[in-house]
Amino acid sequence: MAYETADPQLYARSLEALAAVPTSPLTGMDGTIAVTDPATGEQIATIPNHTVATALEAVSLADAAGRAWAKTTPRHRSDVLHNAYALLIERRDDLALVMSREMGKTITESYAEVQYAADYVRWFAEEALRAGGSYREAPAGGATMLTTRAPVGLSVLITPWNFPMAMATRKIGPALAAGCGCVVKPATLTPLTTYLTVQLFEEAGVPEGLIQVITTKSASAFSEAVLADERVRKVSFTGSTPVGSTLMQLAAKNIIKSSMELGGNAPLLVFDDADLDRAIEGAMLAKMRNGGQTCVSANRMFIQQGIADDFIAGFTERMAALVQGNPLNREVELGPVVDDRAVQRLEHLVTDAVSHGADLRTGGNALPGAGTFFEATVLDNVPVAAEITTTEIFGPVASITRFQTQEEAIAKANDTCFGLAAFVFSENIDRALNVSEALETGMVGINQGLLSNVAAPFGGVKQSGIGREGSSEGLEEYQEIRYFNLTRR
Ligand code: NAD
Repeated sequence: MAYETADPQLYARSLEALAAVPTSPLTGMDGTIAVTDPATGEQIATIPNHTVATALEAVSLADAAGRAWAKTTPRHRSDVLHNAYALLIERRDDLALVMSREMGKTITESYAEVQYAADYVRWFAEEALRAGGSYREAPAGGATMLTTRAPVGLSVLITPWNFPMAMATRKIGPALAAGCGCVVKPATLTPLTTYLTVQLFEEAGVPEGLIQVITTKSASAFSEAVLADERVRKVSFTGSTPVGSTLMQLAAKNIIKSSMELGGNAPLLVFDDADLDRAIEGAMLAKMRNGGQTCVSANRMFIQQGIADDFIAGFTERMAALVQGNPLNREVELGPVVDDRAVQRLEHLVTDAVSHGADLRTGGNALPGAGTFFEATVLDNVPVAAEITTTEIFGPVASITRFQTQEEAIAKANDTCFGLAAFVFSENIDRALNVSEALETGMVGINQGLLSNVAAPFGGVKQSGIGREGSSEGLEEYQEIRYFNLTRR
């Protein structure tokens, strides 16, 4: 493993980008929250620790602006979103640099996220024009039934730290396209990208007040107060399953429409008839995108006995060769994990797996020095009893188990309360489809390790969530169906 430091020019540019991040216009705060760079431990900004009263003020402002926005034409909302897309792309350097500094994503991946995040805005600019209804005769005649899709109303959008821009735009985009105002609460680890993104929406023509950003250390006090407010009609959350469950319980009180994009425990299945190179390439992407810190990350890798030795040798070689280091360096392929707690969790999971009999093929350690780095790690022959098989790893650690038969692989893959994503590698199209259909997940990548696409419905089943983001279904999450009955004489 090579270790690289920051490129001085990118570092200098990142300071300018950080200085350009706007401050919150909401002044009611209880002190501030420090934002740090996980690659260096350096404090890079402070943001307000907004009070509950400020959060409720944000609800009032977004609700008032949202009622006016709901009356604008779809064409107007679409044009504003197209303007926002153009501005996000124009400012991609600033957005990518800020994202790498606060989150630790490699600069190459930050650029990819800016494009992906902006693509959601463009997609929903287009979908804004396509929201349709229906017109039909009552079956017994004598009446015409019309349906339309109306904006659901004020939306609370709560986002995680791992994709700070894309998780925000795939909620803000459809909320605005549908005609809703919103209050966004980013993770305190990565609020800067959200502040900058929202400023660009406003420069693009989004009316003042329509998108509110609240940053707070007291996430539970925020959700308890805001979801008790009867003006809030929608909550969209991306984050862990326990928090999602709490939010659904809070939303239940006022029957608030809820979308939940929650945790995963994705299986990755490689069959003997897979193309070895394609499987290794796909597994690298499925496991290591964003340093393994994705909800769809291949958490449990099941490899069929006949291909296992070759696959594991090739995969381990690729993992061990990854260039790690400061994300502000174009050579770097693996940055830090997000914080100290993540390092400690990974250390614990690796130690626990080894103590249960797993074989450590490469890595296994935190890196000394400033920053929260953990080596790319491969664990082979991981027994079911190891904690790593049931919990989200959320880091650069691969957990591998071997299997004999297709039935055994499917049973193992489905033996989890989660159902977000899965990956299947086989050159036999019948097998690939049969296995994909048998897997209890919302999404399956077949012979590839990247699933996300703005035009596809992203989301899970079982305890991985409710609802879908992206695609036309993503817009419907911010709409209510209304029906009008015209009696005919
Ligand atoms: P988290 O659940 O700890 O936090 C997510 C967000 O919720 C943050 O903004 C946090 O401040 C906020 N939050 C926490 N408790 C809250 C409460 N009681 N009320 C209101 N807000 C609260 O998750 P995280 O560690 O930030 O993100 C990682 C998790 O997100 C993983 O489980 C991952 O699988 C999941 N995730 C899911 C998807 C998906 O699309 N399904 C995408 C990305 C991440």
